Amino acid sequence: MRAVREAERRIWETETTKTYTALAGDPAFADALIPLVLGPAVPRDQVAAVATPGGTGAVRQGLELIRMLNPGATVWVPDPTWPNHVSILRHLAIPHRAYRYFDEATRGVDRDGMLADLSAVAAGDVVLLHGCCHNPTGADPDQATWEAVSALLRGRGALPFVDLAYLGFGAGLEADAQATRRLAAEGDCLIAVSCSKNFGIYRERTGLLMAVARDAATARLAQGNLAHLNRQNYSFPPDHGARIVATILSDADLRRDWETELADVRRGMEALREALAAELRRLTNSDRFDFLRHHRGMFSRIGATPQQVERMRADHGIYMVGDGRINIAGLNARTVPLLAQAMVEAGL
Ligand code: PMP
Repeated sequence: MRAVREAERRIWETETTKTYTALAGDPAFADALIPLVLGPAVPRDQVAAVATPGGTGAVRQGLELIRMLNPGATVWVPDPTWPNHVSILRHLAIPHRAYRYFDEATRGVDRDGMLADLSAVAAGDVVLLHGCCHNPTGADPDQATWEAVSALLRGRGALPFVDLAYLGFGAGLEADAQATRRLAAEGDCLIAVSCSKNFGIYRERTGLLMAVARDAATARLAQGNLAHLNRQNYSFPPDHGARIVATILSDADLRRDWETELADVRRGMEALREALAAELRRLTNSDRFDFLRHHRGMFSRIGATPQQVERMRADHGIYMVGDGRINIAGLNARTVPLLAQAMVEAGL
């Protein structure tokens, strides 16, 4: 992104040392990113935070924190979820269970199934939620569902763990943060933030794990635990991407430019969604693919069976993962009609 290039130039010109930062990373990074995510929802001194290698690192450190402090807790993940969630849980031998999330018929959120399954969580259990732009389905809960989920988890004494990897890719920076802010305003929670996509700095490995506590003293304890976990796993987290993010967010011009470019990226994905849904509407004379317009972020699960995925590959040379997840951002004006045609011919 333009702002990233400019921030790197400034860093190159002004950086005088490559000494270690702190176990939690450069405090300027957390101080810049926390308000972007939480806004005024929580006082700063109630938030513990450590920089991590990407959002994956933040997820991993959050799960390690849970295992260290509450080894009996079950971690609940949506079905489906980003496969690495389950893989890390298995790797850490943390007990975990899935809750219903996706309605294959409507290709939206299975609100009733989700609430029914989550009503079985025990006090101290952890519930992993995608803050926005659910990967792999593209289906996000509406506001009423978020409120119901939040009330349910608080009522049962469960800990929400929000994975926020696509802030700004859904409906905009503020809108995409709303669900996370509500959960954080209502009590303890963990939040794993990735800067890989919204800053386009994938390989720099830039993430932040936040622990929101109910008071400043608990946040200080959490800060110590998180720094300890960083120390055990890699000592100091990567700094270059974190420095880019802090530079951009703390400079008015760079920040404006980044927000503009991010909004352009988001609108580009929205336009592709609209175009694909419109083409499918035209070809099928039905609105059954309108879910594509309602999905958010890079991904959509289009509801193809493994056989239909195979047909699109064999007959049209169109490749997608076996569960029918596509990356909307991988399309363009030329390929949208080709995909739509292939979907219809494959019998979707
Ligand atoms: N969570 C989710 C839901 C993701 O989709 C991803 C990236 N695919 C991540 C976390 C981690 O991203 P990264 O480690 O590249 O920052």
